[in-house]
Amino acid sequence: MSEKTSTSPGCSIVSGMTEKCGVVGISIDNPVALPLYYSLYALQHRGQESAGIVTHDGFQQHSHVAMGLVGDAIKKEDLEKLKGTVGIGHVRYPTEGGLNKQCAQPFSVSFRGGSLALSHNGNLINSEDLRSQLEGLGHTFISDGDTEVITHELARNLLSSDRVSSVHQTMKKIYGSYSLAIMQDDTVMGLRDPLGNRPLCIGKLDGGYAIASESCVIDTLGGELLRDVSPGELIILHPNGSGIESHQLTELDHSAHCFFEYIYFSRPDSIIDKKLVYDVRCELGKKLWEHVGIKTDIVMPVPDSGRAYALGYAEAAAEENVNIRLAEGLMKNRYIGRTFIMPDQDSRERAVRLKLNPIKSTVSGKSITLIDDSIVRGTTSKLLIKLLRDHQVSEVHLRIGSPQIVSPCYMGINMANRDELIASGKTLEEIKDFLGADSVAYLSIDSIAEVIGKSKKDLCLGCVTEKYPYDIEGESSDRDTKRPIIH
Ligand code: AMP
Repeated sequence: MSEKTSTSPGCSIVSGMTEKCGVVGISIDNPVALPLYYSLYALQHRGQESAGIVTHDGFQQHSHVAMGLVGDAIKKEDLEKLKGTVGIGHVRYPTEGGLNKQCAQPFSVSFRGGSLALSHNGNLINSEDLRSQLEGLGHTFISDGDTEVITHELARNLLSSDRVSSVHQTMKKIYGSYSLAIMQDDTVMGLRDPLGNRPLCIGKLDGGYAIASESCVIDTLGGELLRDVSPGELIILHPNGSGIESHQLTELDHSAHCFFEYIYFSRPDSIIDKKLVYDVRCELGKKLWEHVGIKTDIVMPVPDSGRAYALGYAEAAAEENVNIRLAEGLMKNRYIGRTFIMPDQDSRERAVRLKLNPIKSTVSGKSITLIDDSIVRGTTSKLLIKLLRDHQVSEVHLRIGSPQIVSPCYMGINMANRDELIASGKTLEEIKDFLGADSVAYLSIDSIAEVIGKSKKDLCLGCVTEKYPYDIEGESSDRDTKRPIIH
């Protein structure tokens, strides 16, 4: 199977290293800068490379976009300049190539028809084609990202049509995954792609409305979650928080929600499609016990991602009168960045060691079930198992709350290439030997679909099935309808 390679160094679709970001858009009857800032804090787990806010004061846009974590990128004096009661925000996930200023968002432009700003979570598949077409029409680009391509396409349509038709026309051109917060002059909009790949929800705030990648934003702002934005739906937030309207622009008979949002990406306190992510993870832990459970002295999560799974696992064992003590045997240093973002394998390994340290009295001499949500490169599990053995653990059995990740994500998640993915092309026995575990077991795809409560045809399972719900060059698809036809 051929790998995709980068044609540009930046943010478009490259080698499975794409963008997992967080977006927010707010319209209220009060200054919007601070609520946007809090929202970005709530979404920090979705991106740590850059943070930005663009507001509109009824006359003009105000923008502040900078590299780094929200608290470092946006200062009090920046917020003071972000005037207005409507605005959008963005946090961006780091890609393996390191920091990339060009791709920091929201992306904003002024054009003949007014001003436009865009925050994007997801990844376009046809970004390069569309960029060439637009360049042929005289558009010039300042970044190599797909968000700028969407912005140009939308601006172009806005010159000749009204807002809703322009968005509709744009959807006919762009193909891939996108949850967008858009601001055209002082109107904020939320748009979810026809297959609903990335999450997006709507909340009612005191004095207005918000659209956000995750419902934890709405909670943070003291609002009420109304519902998820439907795949193919455009939500328009009226200026000054005065109301919202919905336009269902596409309707398909299947969707492609990313299952990994439930497994790892989304915050456990977020609700996606009426399911609390924490509950889904506990339930997946239960399934792990039911299908691949093993009696050991203790069951231990890899913090923090394995916690809910381990709790569900231990509870399910207890229900069957099998007593496995749930123990916190690994201490996490909370001040280390995500291991994933380290540029090379050596620093990734060092980061795991810096991040996690066993509690000797808890683990020494014990047989252990170690639980994590996923294995990507295997760096974390391999190192942890070695560490535990160094601390005289008698047995280590690894239980993973997702299926084997065998192929890259092209739809907005920073995974890895096939040659880096530990489960790609390996049998379970080979994985076990590589990791040095006494046993390794994963959860089945069927269990995932059952617990999430969606049929497989409504999920994007590309990274675990190698069959994508999108038409991706060099990859195969798992459904008849490839590129959706939008009327
Ligand atoms: P690895 O060490 O490469 O096997 O990565 C697995 C660990 O990273 C697990 O503890 C996961 O919780 C976490 N993880 C899984 N997917 C990602 C991702 N795309 N970005 C960052 N961390 C991840």
